[in-house]
Amino acid sequence: MLRAARNLEQIQLGVDTALDGAAFEDPKTAELAAEALRMVPKEVLVPHQSRLLELLEMWKHRGSWCYGCGRVVLGSFCENCRVVPPQPREHLVYLAFKAGALNLQDLLRLANEQGFKSADAATKSLSNWAFADPKIMRAIIEQIDAELGPNELIEEILRQPADKLQNNSDELFSLLSSNSAVARARVIESLSSGWVAADLAKASAKKALEDISPFVRSAAARFLRTQSSI
Ligand SMILES: [Zn+2]
Repeated sequence: MLRAARNLEQIQLGVDTALDGAAFEDPKTAELAAEALRMVPKEVLVPHQSRLLELLEMWKHRGSWCYGCGRVVLGSFCENCRVVPPQPREHLVYLAFKAGALNLQDLLRLANEQGFKSADAATKSLSNWAFADPKIMRAIIEQIDAELGPNELIEEILRQPADKLQNNSDELFSLLSSNSAVARARVIESLSSGWVAADLAKASAKKALEDISPFVRSAAARFLRTQSSI
C-alpha cells in the first residue's frame, strides 16, 4: 500500500494502516507492517512519535510467539527450539529514531538489551548519529570509556569506512587510552583498515604490546604480523 502511494494523502493513509498493523497481536503481521514503514520519509513519521514509542513499549512487554512450539517467547529466542521469532521492535527502533523520538539514553538502553534485533537497530542508530553529530560521538566515546555501552557499539563504529573514521580520528584514537580493554583491542584491530597513518598505527600497536590486557596485546601482535608480511 505504501509502495503504491502516489501522493501525501495516500502515504498518510498507508502510514496509519501500517501503524495499526504494527499493533496486531500476530507478531509476523506486526513485523511486516513495521518493516513497510521504513521507507516512509522522516517528516511523515515525525507526527507519529508518541505512537511509535507506545508500540515499542507494548511489544517489549508482549514478547513474541513461537509458531513451531505454540508458546509465548519473552526473551530474544524460543528456549524450547532456539528459533528467533518475528518481532516488530527492530523496525520500531529504527522508525522511532528516524522520527526523532529517541534520545541518546533511550538508544543506549535499547542497545544494551543484548540478543534482541532491536539492540542491533539501536546500535546502528547510535553509530549513524555519532558520525552525523560530533557531540553525540563525544558522548558515546565517554560511555564506551566508562564501559557503559555494549561492545557491539564500538564494533559498529569502527566497522565504518576509513574516510568516516578519519573524520573522527581524534575521538576514536583517544579510545586507545580508554578504561575499556575491549575498546582498546577493537581500535588496534581496526588499524588495518587504514584510517590512521601507517607510522602512527605501527607505533600505537607496538605500544599496545605492553598493554595490561592480554586481549589487547594479542590484537596488537596480530596487527603487527600483518604489517610485516606486506
Ligand atoms: Zn520454539
